Amino acid sequence: MSLLVFDRVWQISMKLKPAVILCQFIALLAIGLPPWPALAADNGISLGVLAFRPQPETQARWQPTADYLAAKIGCPVKLMALDYPQLEAAIARRQVDFVLTNSGHYVLMTERNGLSSPLATLIGEENGQPLSQFGGVIVTRAGRTDIASLADLRGKTVATPETGSLGGYQAEAYELTQAGFALPGDIKLQVTGMPHDRALAAVLAGRADVAFVRTGLIESLQREGRLTPGRFKIVNRQQVAGFPFLLSTHLYPEWPIAALPQVDARLARRVAAALYTMPPDDPALRLGHYRGWAIPPDYQPVRTVLQALRLPPYDHAPAFTWRDIVEKNRSTVAVAGVGVVLVVLLTIFLELGNRQLRQETKTRQLLLAALGEGIYGVGRAGRCTFVNPAALTMLGFSEAEVLDQDQHALFHHHRPDGQAYPSADCPIRLTLLDGQTRHREEWFYKKDGTGFPIEMTVAAIEKDAVHNGAVVVFHDISERKRLEGELQALATTDSLTGLANRRCFLGQLKQEWERLQRFGEPGAALLMLDIDHFKRVNDDHGHAAGDAELRRFAELVLASLRKTDQAGRLGGEEFAILLPGADGQGALEFAERLRARIAAEEVVYDDRKLRITVSIGVTQLAQADALAEIALRRADEALYQAKANGRNRVESA
Ligand code: GH3
Ligand code: MG
Ligand code: MG
Repeated sequence: MSLLVFDRVWQISMKLKPAVILCQFIALLAIGLPPWPALAADNGISLGVLAFRPQPETQARWQPTADYLAAKIGCPVKLMALDYPQLEAAIARRQVDFVLTNSGHYVLMTERNGLSSPLATLIGEENGQPLSQFGGVIVTRAGRTDIASLADLRGKTVATPETGSLGGYQAEAYELTQAGFALPGDIKLQVTGMPHDRALAAVLAGRADVAFVRTGLIESLQREGRLTPGRFKIVNRQQVAGFPFLLSTHLYPEWPIAALPQVDARLARRVAAALYTMPPDDPALRLGHYRGWAIPPDYQPVRTVLQALRLPPYDHAPAFTWRDIVEKNRSTVAVAGVGVVLVVLLTIFLELGNRQLRQETKTRQLLLAALGEGIYGVGRAGRCTFVNPAALTMLGFSEAEVLDQDQHALFHHHRPDGQAYPSADCPIRLTLLDGQTRHREEWFYKKDGTGFPIEMTVAAIEKDAVHNGAVVVFHDISERKRLEGELQALATTDSLTGLANRRCFLGQLKQEWERLQRFGEPGAALLMLDIDHFKRVNDDHGHAAGDAELRRFAELVLASLRKTDQAGRLGGEEFAILLPGADGQGALEFAERLRARIAAEEVVYDDRKLRITVSIGVTQLAQADALAEIALRRADEALYQAKANGRNRVESA
């Protein structure tokens, strides 16, 4: 293996998971980790929230959410509304356990203090719509024929509310840098101050040619009657499916909540779970002016913007990887330690350039052996040319079993679903053919036949402009996948019964309605179920008996469904069932059978026998329904009739 290969390995490793690799070095160099403070939680946890408005206002906005969390995870939650400097100091001293702040600030804090990946992303409310993403809008006065595209902004006066604002400056500025602008020199910047309306006013008054503002602003001014439609022209207009506002830039995720390094992973998961399962009618949502919590999207785009604009923490970075090193760093490796490691690494590289081949080989082997990533090389025919110990440990092979073997046939032969993986589709082979670097999630097999998910980067080794092999760097992502699965399940299932939760069921209903809108048939039936006098079960036998009854009820419902039917818990003791393909008669018969079965069932709880009955409302999803919710309302009316007519009945509407 030549120095060329070694260099390639290093480049890819730095891209793939720099923090992991550097940890190895830090261990090697015997630089100790900073001490962990004791695990929080028993005496309560603290949540730091960025206050960009007066602190009492922020405190009042988020207190109900803190109270909700406290009730849900069973320990006191102290809310601290802090401005930028206070929050940064509190994070540095680890005086808060969880942080809720804007995306750019989250990136900065992660670089400085090693926050966790986001646990959940805020679903905000913009102009009455739930949104977990936002971007920027570039506008000029309608009728300006000299400004049509980004290139026309060169030399123009640009009004921005604040250069620290992602939606009001950075997102737009990033688009300009991508279009070849050097900022701020290539435009004349005019900072108007907050709120964003002032930037629009500067354009209307002719003081600026162009304004940068946050998405949703124009629509909300129009809705409030403060702006007549048609006064602005949008530059670099973008269409993103599902995003309802005028847009000129990429989209960026809303505020994340993240944990500090001292927080135990299980506690962090409990907090995430509590947020995901927040009922849509919880008062904390209304008082906090938001709609809920989403699975976090990738925050890398935010980092990319800050890097491109050389904003903190990337404002005084040396040319290579200072920033990359701490990026994705979930551990609390001291930044100072990283700096020392870099110096050592650079020294190793300089040394390598000058020393004899023997010395090169020895250092290279040491480095390969020290890396936590699996690394192997392939020759032009796809056979392994070298492999490091971490790869062998992950794959369960010995070096002799791998060297000179076809890597695809050895551990990349099938896909996760058991389908054969043709070597013609193998990304490593494709890279050998076209020389392109590829970054993929794939599936590798161990010697014992078990498979595991990996994230890999494969890059060609080029010599004299000819690819004569490739290097593959990979790591095991089973844990990440498991966590993603767990979060997905938490976000879509009801924890008591295991049925789809309200949000998930309504999504399924909407899908079925959309199918019906497009194809007209087959029809589908919707049932709403409400247990009769369920309050009495709780009152007479206790809440735990009520819970057992709800679980048993869900089991009975599930047992009576076909594969394509879907059931969900809408809330409390209220359930719904969707029967795709069922006609009116079939649905009524199904509902009647289910009603009778539930009435006949006896649940034994604590040696007591409980019986319940259920009322059911049935309706057909109609193509004429303008919204899926209309069918839901009809089913609810039928259910109300069933209650009014004496309960333990089925009615249809
Ligand atoms: P009706 O026949 O009119 O439906 O009477 P009901 O008592 O069933 O209706 P109501 O809506 O007044 O009460 C529903 C009860 O369900 C109130 C609440 O205590 C109980 N409940 C809601 N969610 C749960 C739960 O998760 N577990 C338990 N054990 N009880 C719940
Ligand atoms: Mg009831
Ligand atoms: Mg009810």
